[in-house]
Amino acid sequence: MEDMHIHLKDAIYDQSKFDMYVKKCIDVGIKKAVFLDHGNRISTKHIPVLSSKEAIDQFNKKIIRFRESKMSKEIEILKGIEIDYSNDLDFRSKTFKILKYGQFEWIVGAIHSIKFDNYSQYLEAILDMLNNYEINVIAHIKKTDEYEKYKDLFTKILKLCSKKNIAIEINTSDRSRWSDKQLYYMLELMENNNVNFVYSSDAHRYEDIGYMIRETKGKVEKWKKNK
Ligand SMILES: [Zn+2]
Ligand SMILES: [Zn+2]
Repeated sequence: MEDMHIHLKDAIYDQSKFDMYVKKCIDVGIKKAVFLDHGNRISTKHIPVLSSKEAIDQFNKKIIRFRESKMSKEIEILKGIEIDYSNDLDFRSKTFKILKYGQFEWIVGAIHSIKFDNYSQYLEAILDMLNNYEINVIAHIKKTDEYEKYKDLFTKILKLCSKKNIAIEINTSDRSRWSDKQLYYMLELMENNNVNFVYSSDAHRYEDIGYMIRETKGKVEKWKKNK
């Protein structure tokens, strides 16, 4: 099992907490994980975590120490970051600086705190993100009951993902988990456009590591079998 989106919060600074996170992953059966947190944030209400050299240095130290430890034989952990998409050039350049300094192994591209008039505008912003940021995966594409209406835009996004080898996140958190119908719809579209997906709990709390991944993966595998 994989969990490609786990927020570390203060475990970035705290070695014993960091070790607890690793242990928890191993205990719930995760073989591959991405540890990350947010870079600079658009909303001032949100706290940036990986936005200073000091924080990134601390994170690096813990990743290096993990890789030298016995635990690294049981689980693979990538050094990640979740970035806020923005069309503001100053904000962008700060993000690019953080990315350059951090040399992250897994970059999660997310849209947060931007108000859109409609879902199409939101998807257009994702396209812009794909064109302007080097990311590995698109985080938590918003739930909608009208997913069929946006087939063309989804397809445009997926074609670009396929070309750039960018994956789609199947987010299993209660906040962002797609309905079963949307999940199957997206799986079909991803398959038709040769796009990979990853499972992500998007855990913001230690207890939520791996949350709902097994269940969701079960649905995906059943869907594949019944095709
Ligand atoms: Zn997010
Ligand atoms: Zn997140």
